[in-house]
Amino acid sequence: MKITKNQIASDLKSLGLKEGSHVAVSLSLKSIGFVEGGPDAFIDAVLDVIGPEGTLMMNTYTRLFPLSDIDSHYVFDPETTIPWTGIVPSTLMKRKNAIRSRHPACSVVALGKHARFLTEGHDEHVENEYLPYVKLAQTNGHYLCIGINDNFVAIRHEAQRRAGLFVVPKFTGVMYKNRQGETKPFILRNAICSVTQPLLVPQLVEMGIVKRGKIGMASSTLSPASELIEAMTSLLSEDPTLNLCSNAFCLECRELERRLNLYDSIRNPGFFQRNIAARKLIELRNKIVLRRYACVRVSNSKQNGKPNLSLFAERGIPNLVGSISRILGKSGTNGGKEQTNSSNELSQDAIGSRT
Ligand SMILES: [Zn+2]
Repeated sequence: MKITKNQIASDLKSLGLKEGSHVAVSLSLKSIGFVEGGPDAFIDAVLDVIGPEGTLMMNTYTRLFPLSDIDSHYVFDPETTIPWTGIVPSTLMKRKNAIRSRHPACSVVALGKHARFLTEGHDEHVENEYLPYVKLAQTNGHYLCIGINDNFVAIRHEAQRRAGLFVVPKFTGVMYKNRQGETKPFILRNAICSVTQPLLVPQLVEMGIVKRGKIGMASSTLSPASELIEAMTSLLSEDPTLNLCSNAFCLECRELERRLNLYDSIRNPGFFQRNIAARKLIELRNKIVLRRYACVRVSNSKQNGKPNLSLFAERGIPNLVGSISRILGKSGTNGGKEQTNSSNELSQDAIGSRT
């Protein structure tokens, strides 16, 4: 089915988007149908509705590697690095006056009235990688989710963070270019599973916070960012077990329930949650897996991908960053041309932690 720009604009209005709205959009373009004019038509439709007094923001997330496999050849540069969040954000990045924040992993792009405010300070030094969503809430902005099965990408992590669920020491990293043009390492502690988050949505609809509708053929939702973050935070704070998925091998959930000792409050615990021996076995397995995310190794083809640094993250992130800087100062800046196989694979876990 062919969907035109005007139809998208009219659907956006029916859902509640208005002139002057500030809106963050997470979407699957193809779920809308065959959009005549592609990503540009979608962007134009949003801009037509919100007008010059409104703002459009989208995630332009980029790669992260387990700490033991940082690829020294992949260097994030906000000017050029293509995001993995899809064709619409990459298209928005190219628009005149669009501003992309400098965060080496969780950057966003914004266009419109509050574009500068939303992206300002969102760089390698920021404490909270979801800062643009905190600011979106401050501007009375909205969160629009199109065709991705109620996965409130990014904004849900701000709620999980506020609910105190960022407790698993799983570190990922990436090289990036700073404002001075120097290549530096960046490390992120951010490990949380979001598989069960869409299950909160029916309750949020009932509370009147999330409004459901359609954009083209895609099931979509629109919510005020501030109320959405607050409501999700209070649901998760009252009952952190709502965050737990039922996969025995989910490192994030199994470590979360162990570290917060949630076992007694899980409503229908699985065997691996009831049985002490099974818990111990899972704990041991996760301890081994977490090592990949606790030791730093920057792969460099000159050294055949052999580890050139190993440190435990428990010593603290500033120490780690300093250590990697020193190592790269010695060997990383003029590395060989060919990439090592071990460093090329993108960790799906790392991506999952930032969706
Ligand atoms: Zn999980």
